[in-house]
Order: sequence, then structure tokens, then C-alpha cells
Amino acid sequence: MPLSTLAPQPIWRWFTTLCSIAHPSKHEEALATYIVNWAQSKNLSVIRDKVGNVIIKKSATPGYENRKGVVMQAHLDMVPQKNNDTVHNFLTDPIKPYIDGEWVTAQGTTLGADNGIGLCAILCVFDDETIEHGPLEALLTIDEEAGMTGAFGLEAGYLDGEILLNTDSEDEGEVYMGCAGGVDANIRFTIESVPVPSEHTAFSLVVEGLKGGHSGVDIHLGRGNANKLLSRVLFELSEQYQVKINAINGGSLRNALPREASADILVPNELVTQFKAAVNTWTATFKAELCAVEPDLAIFLDAGEDFDDVLSPALQTRLLASLYGCPHGVFRMSDEVEGVVETSNNLGVIQTRGKEIYVQCLIRSLMDSRRIDAQNTIASIFTLAGAAVDFTGAYPGWKPESSSQIMDVVRDTYHELFGEMPKIMVIHAGLECGLFKDAYPQWDMVSYGPTIRFPHSPDEKVKIDTVERFWQLTLAILKNIPEKVTA
Ligand SMILES: [Zn+2]
Repeated sequence: MPLSTLAPQPIWRWFTTLCSIAHPSKHEEALATYIVNWAQSKNLSVIRDKVGNVIIKKSATPGYENRKGVVMQAHLDMVPQKNNDTVHNFLTDPIKPYIDGEWVTAQGTTLGADNGIGLCAILCVFDDETIEHGPLEALLTIDEEAGMTGAFGLEAGYLDGEILLNTDSEDEGEVYMGCAGGVDANIRFTIESVPVPSEHTAFSLVVEGLKGGHSGVDIHLGRGNANKLLSRVLFELSEQYQVKINAINGGSLRNALPREASADILVPNELVTQFKAAVNTWTATFKAELCAVEPDLAIFLDAGEDFDDVLSPALQTRLLASLYGCPHGVFRMSDEVEGVVETSNNLGVIQTRGKEIYVQCLIRSLMDSRRIDAQNTIASIFTLAGAAVDFTGAYPGWKPESSSQIMDVVRDTYHELFGEMPKIMVIHAGLECGLFKDAYPQWDMVSYGPTIRFPHSPDEKVKIDTVERFWQLTLAILKNIPEKVTA
């Protein structure tokens, strides 16, 4: 059954078109050009700003001219992820969406419902002459998923609206009024090596089977971090068993909880039997600590491949001590919003590459001052250990405003439509909203969207009936936008 048979049909028709145009992060040109040409064919005012964001304007329908201006916002790009056995070129090949029961998902790749459904809803509003609304603008940003460069580059003066509707959150029934900011910590140890000693056996010490997940929204769930577990075992066993490390690798993305990690090591031949037994003890310890959350956790030794050198004893000590000392997980919960994480860190990536060991963390916080506090904590640990530390990609949080008028409108509209209250939430992840405040400090903002599961993974799927509710809510919000306050 084609997607275009689903309701609301206009959204699914647009989404089918969207899937046919490749649009991974940093390669949004084809999609942006398609949208610009379409807008021009509709006689809508459309421009690209300096960084490439698409801005479309549509005047109010008769009777709505005195409403506050609304900026409807979505990001153009999608995360390109595929299964290992899927052949797919994200720069050229269309996404293949299909209906799977109550969901729409894609064959072997990310679907791009994040933020494609929001994007399509906006295009539908601009496409349709019968929808009632005040002065409207669409802000379609580039590169949200790989650096937020579109939101970073947005300048004042392009947009006139007072209210921003961000469509990039992923739970229908939840409305967001704030989000965490973040920063990447990049840590580099220069490798000092010594020759491999004789009479040793090479192993790969492996931690795997962890659940992983999103480094923000899943950070408080107590899941295991493969990098932390591996460095803990190495810290505990290295001295007693004279373990020598050649390389450590774990995790693949700074914004994902690491599921797997491994170390290439040497153990003196005469200690191999005892070392194997000690590793087994740690399996039992970790299982005892984490079995409720990580039932599939495994730590084991594989036969290792030969290598030419190992880390100098001094570097190995500094590396293991700092990885052990680096905090992972929740630093503090929010005082303002119950159950919401305020500040956290994900020790996401360890890579041995060439002459350096590279470690990457992602720190998030609702409060910029706390984010800097966490930054300083991590910088202190790794600086003491002799590593070079720098921070990149810092973006501000979106601080919840208790007096938001648009939040009242969305909550009341939701209640009127569906007979229940939406949950008002703050998300421990990045939305572009925090960055928009730089150029447009006056914007009154909310974020809402349909229910999407496993975004950024090949299992990404969107729940069909929530797209309908998202659409009904959007139309009703546009009708309920308050009038401009005239001075
Ligand atoms: Zn998104």
C-alpha cells in the first residue's frame, strides 16, 4: 500500500516526494532547490539566507491579518544511517519507506521522519489555500543533525514573526518548553610507545552487548557505558597482571551511549591463566551490578593480533587513571522541572589513531554556567593526565519561560481538540531553539511533533495516527494564534 493512501494525505504525498530526494546532513542542496522552485511556482516569497536556510513567507488569510506572526520551523537534513547489510548511497539513492502496521519505516535505512514529517506539514500549510492562519513564515534550516550550522548562522532581520513553532520533537502528546545546550570535549593523548616485550600473549579484551542509546534523552537510565566498563577492568587488572596496552577503541559517536569497546593488550605468558580467570570475575561483577538494565552485557578475551609496540608505562597509567576519573552520566537533576536531567556527560568515543589516542565527550546542560562547570571538571582531569583538551560546537540551552503565551495556546488547543492535557516537558537534548534566541531573543517558542521511535538509526519509524494528531493540532494552533499587541 502506498504511503499516499494514509491520512492526512497531503503530508504523506509530500513525504513520498521528500524520500525521493536525497538530503543527508551537509547535502541539502537538491532538496532546498526543489522547495525554492516549488515556492516560486506558488508565487510565495522565498529566499536562501547566507548559510543556506530556506525562508518562505505567506500572507495571512482574510480575517487573520492582525494575528501575531508565526514562524513554522523544521530542519531540512536527515541522519544517514543504514544497516551493515544494506546497500545504499545516501547522496543519490531514494529512501524506501513502507507501512509496517501502525508505523511507517524505511528499508534498511533511517527514514527521515525526523524532521521530515514536520517539514512536510509546513509545506502543506504553505501549499493549501483553504487553511486559516495569520502572517506565516517557514524557517527550514540546514545541517541540524551534524552541527546545527543553519541555526548557528541564522541572522537577525530575515524573519518578522513573534512566535516560533519548532516541529522537531518526537513524542506526540508532549510539548517542549526548553532544551539542554551542549559542547563537545576533544581530548588528545600523544602516544609514547615502547617495544613489545617477549614472552607475552596478545589478546583483545572486549566489552559488548550493551543497549546504547541517545546520549541525552537516555543518559539517566543507568545503562552501561562500554568505554567506562573497559577502562575500569583495565585499571583494576593492569598492575597485578602486568597488562600492556597497544590500543583502546570504543563507541562511535559522541552523542550515542557506547555499546562496544575493546583493547588490544599483551599479558605475560605465565600470567595468562590467572588473567583469564580474573576477567571472568569481572563479568560476574558487572552482571551483578547491571543485570536489570543490561542483561546482554558481555566481557571476554579474544585471541589478539600481533603488534609492534605498546603504550609506555607512564602513558598507560595516565590514560587509565583519567578515563576512570572522567565522570559519565547525570551530574545533577533540574531543580525547576521534576524528573528532567540538568547536566550530564557522555564519555562517547575512544579511538587509537596514528600517533594519538583521541577521546570525545558530549556535555549537556540546561544551564550554560553548569555546562561550563562540567567542561572545567573534564578539562581538569585530562589536563592533569597530560592530554590536550579543547571544546568545540558549544551551543546554548533554551531556558524554559514560565510566562510563554504560545505554550498556553498550545496546551489549551490540545485540550480542546483531544480532551486531555499534553505533558509540558523540557528535553535533555539539543533543539535549534536555544540558538535562535541569539538572533531573535524576543521569540516565544514551543516544540512538538509526531511520535518517532529510534531516530538516527535504521530502525527509525513514525507512528501513523500521531501524524494525523500532529496535523490537527498544527491547524488548530494556527487558528488560535493571539492578536498582535498594538502599542
Ligand atoms: Zn531532528
